[in-house]
Amino acid sequence: MIIAVANQKGGVGKTTTAINLAAALALRGRRTLLIDLDPQANSTMSFLDMATVTQSIYEAIADPAVALKDIILPSPVEHLSVAPSRIALAKLEAKLVGEMDAHFRLKDKLEPLRREFPNVVIDCPPTLGLLTVNALVASTHLLIPIQSSYFALEGTDDLLETIDKVRSRANPNLHILGVVITMHDKRTALARDIRTQIDKVFGKKVFKTVITKSVRLEESPAYKESIFKFAPDSSGATEYYRLCEEVIDRV
Ligand code: ATP
Ligand code: MG
Repeated sequence: MIIAVANQKGGVGKTTTAINLAAALALRGRRTLLIDLDPQANSTMSFLDMATVTQSIYEAIADPAVALKDIILPSPVEHLSVAPSRIALAKLEAKLVGEMDAHFRLKDKLEPLRREFPNVVIDCPPTLGLLTVNALVASTHLLIPIQSSYFALEGTDDLLETIDKVRSRANPNLHILGVVITMHDKRTALARDIRTQIDKVFGKKVFKTVITKSVRLEESPAYKESIFKFAPDSSGATEYYRLCEEVIDRV
């Protein structure tokens, strides 16, 4: 399975979901590749020291001579490897203007690695541009994190429209795996209202597991460790492990 974690809204928990879902898959002994497709490189920095990143997903996508395998680095988490990003990735869009295969670059580069990495998680940037489209074209499944906030559903129409466009031509097999509610605060009436609204729009697609607010989830990237090692008894660890189980059941 190749899972794109996408939502063009910024700060909704894409990276937190991508890194912890990838770590949960690895914890279960599955060979997993985390692809950081965001020039901000937050996923990369969650597991690696940027000084060790000499080549990134930018080179792998932009340069026909560079294979994805060439840029992949092992992470401190057993069974988890990372295709790192760096700021150069922000130049990709301009670089690929007019290229016939611009939307298919990541898909083509991933193809030879399907056996080596049966599980791939892609962290997308907060846009619906070429990078996110490359992720959607390359993926079998899409996971949408939605932040439990008053503006939670704003922009989801645009996201769904992009998904329809990708499905109509480039990737008819793209499934919406589900919607995960993030940064939820069970105590507030507003959060409960938001949950109801999200359920109304996405119905059964909403995962039973809700990710609550957790300081531990915010802290763990700074230690370059997965939540499962950094704070195994935290709510974040329990919830992302359960989300991973639901993901596996749905695939
Ligand atoms: P961007 O659009 O910039 O890529 P994003 O969608 O990847 O953002 P994250 O970086 O995962 O979002 O999360 C935004 C901020 O919220 C981060 O500081 C992160 O640590 C924090 N955060 C994410 N999930 C939780 C949570 N469940 N509890 C508390 N803080 C969280
Ligand atoms: Mg992010």
